[in-house]
Amino acid sequence: MPAKVTIDQNECTGCGICYNDECPDVFMEGDDGNSNVKTMYQKGDKSVGEVPDNLVGCAKNAEAACPASAIKVE
Ligand code: SF4
Repeated sequence: MPAKVTIDQNECTGCGICYNDECPDVFMEGDDGNSNVKTMYQKGDKSVGEVPDNLVGCAKNAEAACPASAIKVE
């Protein structure tokens, strides 16, 4: 099943773990250094996206690794 991914921009510190290390297929660095959902998966907002089956595991790894608990995958 595809999964919904959200990034809380107020919690994100721009550490880069999600977009550099854990899951660069889903996350990218935004203009302000914070994490954004990659454009191709965005759903109307840089902080909200829907990712396909094959990337759900990677997105969940980023959710688990985020030191700010800013990522939610559901
Ligand atoms: S791992 Fe968390 S705090 Fe770090 S850039 Fe990604 S969303 Fe932001």
